[in-house]
Formats: sequence, C-alpha cells, structure tokens
Amino acid sequence: MNITDREHLRALFTKPTNYINTNRGDAYYRELYKKMEKRLAQLKAQKPVREAEMKFEEYLKVWELTRRDFLKWVSATTAMLMLPPQFEPLVAQAAEVMNRIPIIWINIQDCAGNTEALLRSYSPTVDELILEYLSVEYHEVIMAAAGDQAEQNLEKAVKDFDGKYLLFVEGSIPVGMPEAFTIGRHPKTGVEHVKHLAEHAAAVIAVGSCAAFGGVPAAYPNPTGAVGVMDVVKGKPIINIPACPANPANITGVVIHYILTGEIPELDSLSQTKVCLWIQNS
Ligand code: SF4
Repeated sequence: MNITDREHLRALFTKPTNYINTNRGDAYYRELYKKMEKRLAQLKAQKPVREAEMKFEEYLKVWELTRRDFLKWVSATTAMLMLPPQFEPLVAQAAEVMNRIPIIWINIQDCAGNTEALLRSYSPTVDELILEYLSVEYHEVIMAAAGDQAEQNLEKAVKDFDGKYLLFVEGSIPVGMPEAFTIGRHPKTGVEHVKHLAEHAAAVIAVGSCAAFGGVPAAYPNPTGAVGVMDVVKGKPIINIPACPANPANITGVVIHYILTGEIPELDSLSQTKVCLWIQNS
C-alpha cells in the first residue's frame, strides 16, 4: 500500500465492514448459545493435546489468583467478545479446555517482545495464566529443544495436528531480502517457513505490529523488504493482533472465540478482530 495515498487510506479505515453490530437479537443469541454448548461438549470429550502439569484450579492457586479474579476476567472477556452476560458460564468452561487446541508459535524478524510481554510480567493476570495453560507444541523462544531436535519437533507437530493447530507468527517477513531470515539445517527462508506452516494450520494469527503490518523492520528505508503475514499467506484465515507488543487479553480473546465457535472472529478491513479492538485502543 502506498501510505501517501490519502484516498486509499480513507477508504480502508471507513469501510462499512469496520462497523460492529452489538445486538443481534434474542433468536441469534439462543442459536449461538446452543452451538457453543455443543462445541464445548465435543472439546471436553477430547483428551487434552498435552496433559497439563496441574488442573486449572491448581494453576490459579500457584499463580496466587483467586476464583474471584477468574470470575472478573470471565465477565470482562464475555463483554469483550460482545456476548451477553448469560454466556459467562460458557466462557469460563472455554478457559478450562484451552489445552484441547494445539498451538505453534514462530518468530521471524522480531524482537520477541510479544513473547517477553507474556512471560515477564511482574504481576500475572488471568490472561497470562491461560496462555501458560495452552498446549504450545512449538515455540522457538521458550522450548528446551534446539537444532535438529527442534526441527523434528516442529515437523512432528505439523503432521500430528495437520489442519487443526493455530499458527501464531511474531515478527515481519523479509520478502525483499529473503536471506535476511533463514532457519534450520536445510535452511528455509522466512517466506518458505511461514507459507509451509500456514498451509497446514487451521488459522494464522499475526501477533504484534511487525507480524500484522511489517512494524519496525518495515520502517523506511525497509532494507529487507519487510511485510506482514497477510502479504505472504493467501487462502487461510488470518487474524491481525497489532500493537507493540500485542495485548495478552486480545490473544486469549481470539483463542477463546475459536474454542467456543470453531471459527475465527469477525474481522475488519485490516484483518483485525472487531471483538477485541477496544482493548487495542484502550
Ligand atoms: S511488534 Fe513490537 S514487540 Fe512485537 S516483535 Fe515487533 S517490535 Fe517486537
């Protein structure tokens, strides 16, 4: 996009698709409730992707969070997802089955600041606890494996969870200088790495402004030709969660929505979730 093209920018930010319908009527919410109940029952019947070290309640205690903290989080998240209060019990149940959804998280041209923001918070929040509880099958920053073993783990996860995992991408992708990012003993460029993993994912989540729109690496003169995920990956649902770093509440919001519906949230013209926008802007 040419950012000097004011008309193009105006059209992008004022598209009718950016508006949100916050009240869809009783019949709509009744149907949605039934659909979510059914989806949760299916997920509960499944085994966790990876057995959590503790039960969810035990995690709350270890992280020194009370049931009251959790219920406050449930109310806020239900509102953030633009659901009426009667959906709160479903949101609480969704948090407790987060470990049924496999996650692959990769880092391209980034500072790992989005990961750091989740890991190094002084006072943990329920969002951070929930991200800890997720079944993260591969994450270059936090996993113990390295080198060949890491590559094998990644390919095993892709094979085992083909079409089922959520792919989180952190960082921009150098398309103008592909060799600026390579990974593995049989090196893949950032473009190849992202395209390969996106092809087998259920959906792709671009975390942080770098992954969403190119961010800092794309600043003039953009020596590596850095772009966001949506400029490289086509034919897959892509959700942008911009900000530097991304807000953990938006990340959990997207995953909770996926758990409840099996679908990605409604998106605006910039592929951002409409449901979480108020947190990005607050
Ligand atoms: S969006 Fe910010 S925190 Fe995330 S990788 Fe880019 S510079 Fe780092």
